[in-house]
This record gives sequence, C-alpha cells and structure tokens, in this order.
Amino acid sequence: MVLDKPICFMVNIVSVNKITVIKKFEYTPILGWSTSRYDMFLLCRRQYYYNYYGKHDPLYSRQKIDELKKLTSIPLEIGNVTHDVIKVFLDRLLKSEGKIDTGRFFDYVRRKTEEYCHAKRFMEVYYDEISNIDIDELFAKIQNSLSNFLNSDRCNWLTTKVISNKQSWLIEPSGYGETRIDEMKAYCKVDFLFPCDDDIYIIDWKTGKRDEKKHKKQLLGYVSWAAYHFEKDPVKIIPIIAYLQPSYEEMKMNFNEYDIQDFAIHIKEETEEMYSVCSNIEENIPEDKERFTKTTNTKICNYCNYRELCR
Ligand code: SF4
Repeated sequence: MVLDKPICFMVNIVSVNKITVIKKFEYTPILGWSTSRYDMFLLCRRQYYYNYYGKHDPLYSRQKIDELKKLTSIPLEIGNVTHDVIKVFLDRLLKSEGKIDTGRFFDYVRRKTEEYCHAKRFMEVYYDEISNIDIDELFAKIQNSLSNFLNSDRCNWLTTKVISNKQSWLIEPSGYGETRIDEMKAYCKVDFLFPCDDDIYIIDWKTGKRDEKKHKKQLLGYVSWAAYHFEKDPVKIIPIIAYLQPSYEEMKMNFNEYDIQDFAIHIKEETEEMYSVCSNIEENIPEDKERFTKTTNTKICNYCNYRELCR
C-alpha cells in the first residue's frame, strides 16, 4: 500500500549543516510502521490489538483499556526520567555553557524522580507485585545513568567541540518522527541529532540492556529518517546508541544506501504483515478481535499492561 502523492504539504526550516527541512505530512489514518509497533505485533497479537485498536473492543470499555495502556513500569520510568533530564541538560547548554553544579543538578533529578513516581501508576503496584514504589531505588539507577553520561568522553566531546554549532542541534524534535520509507508511512523518533564537520550524528540514550539486533534496526530507522528529511547520503549520517548503565558504552554503526534500501524492503514486508489484520487498510480498521490471538508464551504476560483482561 503506497501513499498517494504529494505527501509533503508543509515544512519547518531548521539548520542542520546548512541543510534543510523536516518534512511534515497531511494526516491519513493508515497505520505507520515503527519498531515498537512491529515488535508488539510479533510479541502478542492480543496486546497489539489492545494497544492500537482498543476503541474497537467489543467487550471492554475504551476507558478501561486506556487506563491499562497508561500504566508505566519501573524500567520505563527510569528511562523516561533519564531521557527528560538529558533533554533539560542539552537545552541548558543552548542557553549557557557554564559548568554544571553537580549537587544542584542531582537535587533537580531527585525532585523529577519523585514527581514522575507520584504522577504515574506503576503496573508493578497495580498488579500487586510490590506494595509501593521505592523512589530511592529508582533514583539510584537514574543517578548512575546520568553520572555515567556526564563522565563520558561523548559528553566531554559534546560540551567542548560540538557545542560550537549548537544552533543546529535538534533535541527531541516535536512530533512522532513521521517519515516515509519507500513511500510507506513510518515513525522513527530521534533523541538528539546534530551536525559535526560534514556529518550528521544521531544519539539515542538507553537505560536498558544491550540488544544489538533490535537496536541496529532502530539505528537504520534513524538513518532512514535523517536521509529522507535532510536529503543526506546515509554514509554521512552516524547513528549511535549510548548505553548509560551499568557503565557508559556505545554502539556506533555505519550504513550506506544499500543498507537503507534493504531496510526499506523489510519495512514494506512488516507493514504489509500489519495491514493483513486490517479489514480496511486506508482507514486502519482492524479485523475482528478473534484474529488477534493471545500469545502462548505466558512469560510475556507477566510484563503486559493488559493481563487483567486476559485472565
Ligand atoms: S496478558 Fe498475555 S495474552 Fe494477554 S494481551 Fe498481554 S501478553 Fe497477550
């Protein structure tokens, strides 16, 4: 299913290495590929149904499904706080290059951790695995991730060399990272993108475990996104996964146009697989719920937001 042209109707001008535009797209209801969407599609069709088609459920109210969808988890929240604080750190660098006061910085991080923990419902508490969230434990992990980042060579490089071109930084650009891969709708949201010399760098922060296969696919998505929006040779786009714990490590890859073309073929196949459970592809209406079978791997259910609905 190829989207009709023209697909771009509006642009935002940004300066990335003297290039160019982030393209925006007219809204269409058709589903868009993303690595998280397809991963859930593979993991459990029923979970995928609740997550993306909850409003069509014949049994449970939309309110109930949305309530479960919004549940967070301890690992997710460690990642959320860490990402948001790094964004604040980078935004601050845009305004001031003064030295960070570490004590005040981590006081702020502690307050953010408390704020996030109090504002959200955790699935571990909702499903009675624990009675309450241990904020000290979360804060210790977040502090460890951020300390590793602040002490890394990468952070030093950003604050000494890359900062000279900070007016061109893109820090968590707004929106969902919509793009087109081989004319199909896709979402690849980057954390941080910036030019250095003649290259574009993209960094994605991770507080979870290293997973080379999964993260390589994410990096291919980021390079496809940047190559499309900035019309840049993929060889000149350097994507990096920055693992923040237990110690700072990176996975840096290089791709060329053949990797990107090969990736597009996979994305097309995966998108068509997801189309196959739609009764109306253009409107993104799902087939009957029965087509979305429950996983037989019950270990997955132990980490699922919707387990209450499957009992
Ligand atoms: S509880 Fe298990 S079967 Fe039910 S939606 Fe979640 S992962 Fe799928």
